[in-house]
Amino acid sequence: MSSMNQSFDTSPDQEKYDLWAQGGGAALGLGEQTSAARGVASFACNPASSRGRRFSEPPAPTRNAFQRDRDRIVHSTAFRRLVYKTQVFLNHEGDLFRTRMTHSLEVAQLARSIARVLGLNEDLVEAIALAHDLGHTPFGHAGQDALNECMQEHGGFEHNFQSLRVVDSLESRYPQFEGLNLSFETREGILKHCSAKNARFLVDTEFAEFKEQRSISGESSLQDPSDADWASVGSRFLERKQPSLEAQLCNLADEVAYNAHDIDDGVRSGLIDLDKLSEVPLFENFRLQVQREFSGLSTRKTAYESIRRMLSAQVYDIIASTREAIVSSNVQTLEDVRLCGPLVCFSPSMREQSSELKRFLFQNLYRHPQVIQTTNWARGVVTDLFNAYIKDPAQMPPFYRSRKNLHRAVSDYIAGMTDRFAGSEHARLCSTGPKIAQPF
Ligand code: MG
Repeated sequence: MSSMNQSFDTSPDQEKYDLWAQGGGAALGLGEQTSAARGVASFACNPASSRGRRFSEPPAPTRNAFQRDRDRIVHSTAFRRLVYKTQVFLNHEGDLFRTRMTHSLEVAQLARSIARVLGLNEDLVEAIALAHDLGHTPFGHAGQDALNECMQEHGGFEHNFQSLRVVDSLESRYPQFEGLNLSFETREGILKHCSAKNARFLVDTEFAEFKEQRSISGESSLQDPSDADWASVGSRFLERKQPSLEAQLCNLADEVAYNAHDIDDGVRSGLIDLDKLSEVPLFENFRLQVQREFSGLSTRKTAYESIRRMLSAQVYDIIASTREAIVSSNVQTLEDVRLCGPLVCFSPSMREQSSELKRFLFQNLYRHPQVIQTTNWARGVVTDLFNAYIKDPAQMPPFYRSRKNLHRAVSDYIAGMTDRFAGSEHARLCSTGPKIAQPF
């Protein structure tokens, strides 16, 4: 126990940080970084002082709480389904486009790399990143929008809240509890946004569970959810507190990952013209740099190298800006982090450049006529399926059709589907309805 505490109490290595900040990362090789990362900062999450799981479990003999969370996520059904869920391009549109799975792996890679340099907990960052999109519907945002419309009168649908529902209750594989029973810190990182209504629901549900657990274990019960030594993952939204730095990092790494890989996929698909990308300064500066350094480089390699440099620049910017924010706000502990404003950040100029890139992607990829056509088809599939299951719940497996709240059960069932399963269910159940033209 004491050796574990010691390793987590190590302060961030200022000198190595400074080297990174000054040299933009080039001053240190990856091998040297690792030694700086052996210590985890005092403001990082520490599995030894985790706020625990919803249902008490004995610790694992060889893994800390966050490693165990990550492993449970990797072994979950919802995680395997990410292979066949759309990021931007439908799964069958090409074998090399990102899926939710490869997107999640890329987020985990970026977040882990940054966490290591900043002295944050890599295991936790990996667990959050791998789980952050578990609640995504088939067909990407089109599927989520359609399901949200179908659920308008029944509490709505939000993929981020759904990711938490997946790990809290929809995965059904352990004898002692439903869900994966992940630690507070992983669940907190998964729940990036939350409406006040859902936050209150979480506080009430988790407080009731907590009181029950305490009475089972013979401990004195708390009387009020605002008691200081207890918190739900919903509490911070009501109290306007920040999540851990690991959670903040995964949120920003998600953005960096999809901006970069959507450009890559957009160029690969032919929907984004490389020349048109010259409108985006963040990309264009690196493209000019690459062209100056390598004459006669193929278009594909030019794109790869420019994207790689763009990605690295954002990573170094996050490291330097976040480190500066941590130092200037003088946070020392995780509690300081929760009471401070957001600390994991871009510099103002990188934030602006990243926003420009986002605007470009929105106008030229997400709103591309070919993508819109696919989107419209996907919306129709999800809406048809929703109506079909509401009309005939017996078409769903017992786990869903036996639930009291039929609309939420249908929503959960559809949200869990892969693109191709949704397509085959649509063909099975809706073939007599109005024919929806497939865009391919
Ligand atoms: Mg994501």
